[in-house]
Amino acid sequence: MSIYIDPAVATSLRGFEMPEKLGFGKVMAPVMFRAVCQDGCWSPGQLVPYAPLALDPAAKVLHYAQSCFEGMKAYRMQGGGVGLFRPERNAARMAHSAERLCMPAVPESLFMDGVRAVTAYCANLVPANSGESLYLRPFLMGTQPDLSVSASSSYEFYVIASPSEAYHPGNMRLWVEREDSRAALGGTGDSKVGGNYAASLQSIARLKARGYDQSLWLNPGNRRTVDELSGMNFFAVINGELHTPALNGSILEGVTRDSLIDLARELDYPVREREIDIDELLELVQSGRCEEAFACGTAAIVSPISVFGDGEREYTPAQAPGPVAQRLRAALLDIQEGRAGDPFGWMQAVEVADPSER
Ligand SMILES: *Cc1c(COP(=O)(O)O)cnc(C)c1O
Repeated sequence: MSIYIDPAVATSLRGFEMPEKLGFGKVMAPVMFRAVCQDGCWSPGQLVPYAPLALDPAAKVLHYAQSCFEGMKAYRMQGGGVGLFRPERNAARMAHSAERLCMPAVPESLFMDGVRAVTAYCANLVPANSGESLYLRPFLMGTQPDLSVSASSSYEFYVIASPSEAYHPGNMRLWVEREDSRAALGGTGDSKVGGNYAASLQSIARLKARGYDQSLWLNPGNRRTVDELSGMNFFAVINGELHTPALNGSILEGVTRDSLIDLARELDYPVREREIDIDELLELVQSGRCEEAFACGTAAIVSPISVFGDGEREYTPAQAPGPVAQRLRAALLDIQEGRAGDPFGWMQAVEVADPSER
């Protein structure tokens, strides 16, 4: 790794006190990674103290939303050391998101330098209890100060990190969102961009007022088949088989989704990726043939769904949490925390850095 380590990093790390209560994504690690791209040319990365950014008020990101991000975790592994889970998938997805917004891809080597450097220097900040982790947030944005509508000529890439507790949303009450869409057909649904989240917030505010937790988004083209949640993919267990919506351009391809599909097949659950009609799904829940449903993503891993609300009606899966969700969650966490073997080669160990050696 050929990155510059600011000498002030050691001081920042020494002065950092881990609060008793972490929450999720609330406490920021005292260092961050930074790299700049000017006219398509990336400068070498730097590890620097965590600090506010100086942005020109005319920076394109603030007006035209040229920005994308990733969410991933560094885990404390049984037997010592710290590991990243399939980081190359996040690098590839960020390149895809960047391309969609006409931004230069962060080269995989630079992305890996960033997540590895932050993890290596913050290894002592990876909390130790099962389910806890160092949550990593890489992000890229267009910084050129220019109000004309065109792609920025300059970009900044950062990796920040947050020592976090296990994220337990509990049993989720989903609201079937039949009005709004989080992403348009031909839009940015399969890219991890902040705009998708902004577009989801009004729906979430409405459903919270009605006692629900999350929107279940339908496909923006047909408004009839299930896409996903705002930040998690969707699974249903139907007659003992695992069903998940097939990727269709508006669904974000989750690394957790992909990993659960592999794990489920390994555990001999049949998996079907298909279009799932919402009315058919609700009927299957009603009749008890859909025994359980859950959402998945890096933050929560697997979150059981306890209720589907649709207009005035509620549909309740027989089991929440159900046995399939619990088994898959445990199997994935066992790999991520090094208690089980790693048959798919998903974990990448990170060598711990000693900041006092600089
Ligand atoms: C990030 C995200 C997911 C989950 O992806 P993971 O890689 O599993 O964390 C699912 N849906 C949306 C819309 C997302 O932004």
